[in-house]
Amino acid sequence: CGIVGYVGGRQAVDVVVEGLGRLEYRGYDSSGIALVGPGGELEVQKRAGKLANLRSVLAEGPASFATTGIGHTRWATHGAPTDRNAHPHTDCDERIAVIHNGIIENFAELRAELETDGHKLVSETDTEVVAHLLEGFAELGLAEAMRRTCKRLKGAFTLLAVSVDEPGVVVGARRNSPLVVGRGDGENFLGSDVAAFIAYTREAIELGQDQVVRLRASEITITDFDGVPSPTRNYHVNWDA
Ligand code: GLU
Repeated sequence: CGIVGYVGGRQAVDVVVEGLGRLEYRGYDSSGIALVGPGGELEVQKRAGKLANLRSVLAEGPASFATTGIGHTRWATHGAPTDRNAHPHTDCDERIAVIHNGIIENFAELRAELETDGHKLVSETDTEVVAHLLEGFAELGLAEAMRRTCKRLKGAFTLLAVSVDEPGVVVGARRNSPLVVGRGDGENFLGSDVAAFIAYTREAIELGQDQVVRLRASEITITDFDGVPSPTRNYHVNWDA
């Protein structure tokens, strides 16, 4: 339902939770966050219910100072609103974490195929297949893995992913569901809408249909699902938050 991503110099947990708070108006039943520390340590926390539930888990402090993170508020379509079905979802080895808005229409076929290949899926969501598809393409790097994965998906999706193999990188993709980049100075943001990052920057790029973005602190690379660089639509957000 709501999506936030961050790469930069700040403590990512603060930026992501602040962004999730600004997306609360959309309604949600669960929330969660994935942080990647500088040494590639992945921390995932997720809870059913109000954002306050996630905040209280995080109040004990994240395991490391992480400057890369993604966060999600879920409006369940496939699988009950439980802790386990909350996003992010991870692959078998917990090296990749994914959040998703929308519906993967062909998830049942993909799940059957992944299970035949030995993947163990632990949730009831349509989203979890994405983490396992990314795992299968992992040696190609996260952005190319995302492009290959998207070509296998039917339906509507905004996806964000992080990987322990690429600390300092967030990859996003979209089809039939919105995704906006916020351009900062030595830091960059992603949001399902600009409210996610309006507290930090008003310089935005709207992702087009069937595009993938690879975000680093000082680099934004946007391509189509074939890896061809895409023209970008930059704009300035004028309204007051
Ligand atoms: N279909 C996904 C789920 O049920 C994502 C729902 C959403 O957009 O929040 O987990």
